[in-house]
Amino acid sequence: MISKLLVANRGEIALRIIRACRELGIETVAVYSEADRDSLHVELADEAVCIGPNNSAKSYLNIENIISATVNSGAQAIHPGFGFLSENPKFAQVCKECGIIFIGPEPECISLMGNKANARKKMKEAGVPVIPGYDGLIRDDFEALKIAKKIGFPVIIKAAAGGGGRGIRVVKEEKDFLDNYNNARAEAKACFNDENIYLEKYINKPRHIEFQILGDNYGNVIHLGERDCSLQRKNQKILEEAPSTFINEKTREKMGEAAIKAAVTVNYKNAGTIEFLVDEKNNFYFMEMNTRIQVEHPVTEAVTGIDLIKEQIKIAQGNPLSFTQEEVEIKGHAIECRINAEDPAQGFKPCPGKITSVHIPGGYGVRMDTAIYSGYKVPPYYDSMIAKLIVHGRNREEAVSKMKSALFELIIEGIETNIDFQLKLLNSKDFIYGNYDTSFIEKKMVNN
Ligand code: ADP
Ligand code: ADP
Ligand code: MG
Repeated sequence: MISKLLVANRGEIALRIIRACRELGIETVAVYSEADRDSLHVELADEAVCIGPNNSAKSYLNIENIISATVNSGAQAIHPGFGFLSENPKFAQVCKECGIIFIGPEPECISLMGNKANARKKMKEAGVPVIPGYDGLIRDDFEALKIAKKIGFPVIIKAAAGGGGRGIRVVKEEKDFLDNYNNARAEAKACFNDENIYLEKYINKPRHIEFQILGDNYGNVIHLGERDCSLQRKNQKILEEAPSTFINEKTREKMGEAAIKAAVTVNYKNAGTIEFLVDEKNNFYFMEMNTRIQVEHPVTEAVTGIDLIKEQIKIAQGNPLSFTQEEVEIKGHAIECRINAEDPAQGFKPCPGKITSVHIPGGYGVRMDTAIYSGYKVPPYYDSMIAKLIVHGRNREEAVSKMKSALFELIIEGIETNIDFQLKLLNSKDFIYGNYDTSFIEKKMVNN
């Protein structure tokens, strides 16, 4: 049994994990960079250890310091949250070698799925439909162009080690391919220290629909339904909802089965997400697997009533899943809006700085996960997401009304945020009718 756990993250997800631990009677150890000295996660955890300077490479990504903090504090487990070390197989391996429980899947599994080209190959072999494309080794420019022509333009170039919506390029015409291909490789090397890229057919007007998976240490794998994350800007999610307004019952069932097959194929343990793209004809294709808790997990919690972080901890300490697939029931409708410290009027430029005052909305079916407070300084060193606003209603209409009301009530002063942009999105007719795909925001909401 875990009695003390180290949270290797910051911000709202660190608070989310600390709260789950407190409910389970588990003591917590926070880690923080110098920039985060006055953070709520430091305040709320039972103990806190400084692990380095502002730069995340030297703090939140510093494996050695995090492991030392774990050993010194006597914590038996580490929850990595999302981002940072959550999908780093080396970190999971070091934990294992040090006898620390890593709350997530086995290092081998993270490693396999972390290379998105290899993950595609594995899924194809298992009979899970993948986006048409090429995941083999590309020897030279000549071969790359040949493959792209065979796939057929437009194609999408992706970094095998990519994530967070970065390292993705769409190429519409043959003449632009080689420049993009070579730039993509250089960018992948610079961002992910891995120049491997792979190619996919660009799916026109797709929906991004993903399935939440839970697997225990005894081979039981279930899914908790889908989340529609099609509302994106620059391939990054902005608003997520569950269930999806787009897929029919038959597609939902087939996608759920495919998601379970994908997880079983890699002997998946703990919480994970299978991301699919769905085309206009309801054909679905595996895109990637995220081997960690996801930013948008609260919408699934809202519609299933299952606390995903507590489940992750219980699975990691060896408990079998406490429910079966048949017992999972999707109730009502949930929406999440990501609140970012950024200025939509200036191309969504990040806007760190001091928050002079905050008003957090409340009420029945309203949840706000955040680590901000009046007087808090949003540091410039990390992701610009500062809060997640989540609502749950009996149906989509009620959820949309609740979200509008909650966004209206939410006040963050001192810095620019995307709150008004989210309201605009909620008020757009196409959103209200559920009539959108991944290109919606860039085509209809942003003038660029
Ligand atoms: P989700 O799929 O949970 O919505 P995101 O793609 O928004 O996840 O990523 C969550 C966080 O993790 C973001 O802060 C993002 O920048 C970061 N992240 C995700 N993948 C990577 C990666 N490969 N390298 C660095 N950061 C990443
Ligand atoms: P990341 O690892 O950065 O999350 P993904 O492979 O999940 O990258 O892709 C991120 C987003 O990019 C998707 O949600 C989708 O909007 C877009 N995208 C990815 N692949 C394709 C494709 N083949 N066709 C059209 N859009 C795509
Ligand atoms: Mg993705």
